[in-house]
Amino acid sequence: MGNWESYVRKVVPYVPGEQPQEQRMIKLNTNENPYPPAPGVIRALKEFDTDRLRLYPEPACKVLVDAIAEYYGLKSSQVFVGVGSDDVLAMIFMTFFNSKTPIWFPDITYSFYDVWADMLRIPYEVKPLDDNFQIVKEDYYGENGGVVFPNPNAPTGILMPLSEIEDIIKHNQDVIVVVDEAYIDFVTAVAVPTARALLDEFPNVAIMRTFSKAYGLANYRVGYMMTPVELANYIQTIRLPYNLNTLSQVAAEAAFEDQAFLRRTVSQNAEERAKWESLFDELNIHYYKSEANFIFFTVPDAEGLADAWLKEGYQVRRGQRDGWLRLTIPMAQDGAVMRGILKEFMN
Ligand code: PMP
Repeated sequence: MGNWESYVRKVVPYVPGEQPQEQRMIKLNTNENPYPPAPGVIRALKEFDTDRLRLYPEPACKVLVDAIAEYYGLKSSQVFVGVGSDDVLAMIFMTFFNSKTPIWFPDITYSFYDVWADMLRIPYEVKPLDDNFQIVKEDYYGENGGVVFPNPNAPTGILMPLSEIEDIIKHNQDVIVVVDEAYIDFVTAVAVPTARALLDEFPNVAIMRTFSKAYGLANYRVGYMMTPVELANYIQTIRLPYNLNTLSQVAAEAAFEDQAFLRRTVSQNAEERAKWESLFDELNIHYYKSEANFIFFTVPDAEGLADAWLKEGYQVRRGQRDGWLRLTIPMAQDGAVMRGILKEFMN
C-alpha cells in the first residue's frame, strides 16, 4: 500500500446552510436575498448573446470594475473582482497572510475564515466577543500576522463604528487588516461606517464586498475587493486569468447600475427587520440589534422553534451557537406567518 494519504491536505470543511430541493421551502438559513435582483439584470440576461459562450470571458471584468471604482471614488486599479467574496477571501489570505505569527479574527464570526486558514496552513487565533457579542478592539492590539473581521459581524448582525475600525487599523500597521463588508449594503444609517473612508489614509486595508446579499445575485458568484493600488497589484499576480464568467459579469453590471432598486430592497429589509425586533421585544426574546438582513436570537427551545417553522416550510440556520438561531429576514407575507408560529410557540 502506498503512503499517498499522508500527503493529502486535510481540512475540516465549511458546512454551508442546506440547499433543500423542495420548491415550497422558503430558505432563511444562508442570508440570501428574498427579493429578486434589479429588473435590469433579467433584461440583460434575456438579451445575452449566447454566441459569447464559446469564448473566454473578459479577464479584467473591466466594465464592472470601472463602475464600482467610479461609484466609490477609487481608481479602477484599486478594485478586484472575484468569484464571490469567498474567492476574494482566499486570494487575500494566500497573498497577505504569510507570516508565521497567527492571524486574528473573532471567535463568533463567518465560519469560513478558519477553513481557509487551515487549508492554506495559516496559523490563527480567535478573539472572543464580549458578553454583548461585540468585537473588543483592544483584543486586536499586539503582534499578529493579519486581522480579518466582518462589519456588520455575522451571525450577530452587529455593526462596529468606524472609529473602532480605524483604531484597529492604527494598531496594526505592519499587517493587512481585512474588513469583510458582505452585509454593509443593508445598513440604513445616514453615515454608513464603511472602511472605504479609511482607504485613502491607510496603505494596509482591504475591504471585501459581495453581490450575493443585498444585490440578490448569490447564484452568480460575484464578490469584490477595494484596496490601495499596491495591494490590488499583488492580488493581480496570483489570480486566475479568467475568474468571472460573462453571465456573472453582465448580471453584476446591471445590478450595480440600479442603485435605486438596491435602496428599495434595503429599506424593505429594514422595515421587515423592525417588525421582528418589536415582536422580540414584546415576547422578551433576547436578540442583537442587527444592521444586516438577518437576526441572531435565542429562545429556551431553539431546536423546537426551528422545527415548528420547518414544518411550515421555513428553514432557518441552527448550530451557530447553542440555543441560538439565525433568521434571514423574510418578505412581509412570510414574516407575518412566521411570527404567528413564533407567538403560538412561545405561549
Ligand atoms: N463574508 C461573510 C461575512 C458572509 O456571511 C459570506 C456569505 N456566507 C461571505 C463573506 C461570502 O459570500 P459570497 O462568497 O457569496 O460573496
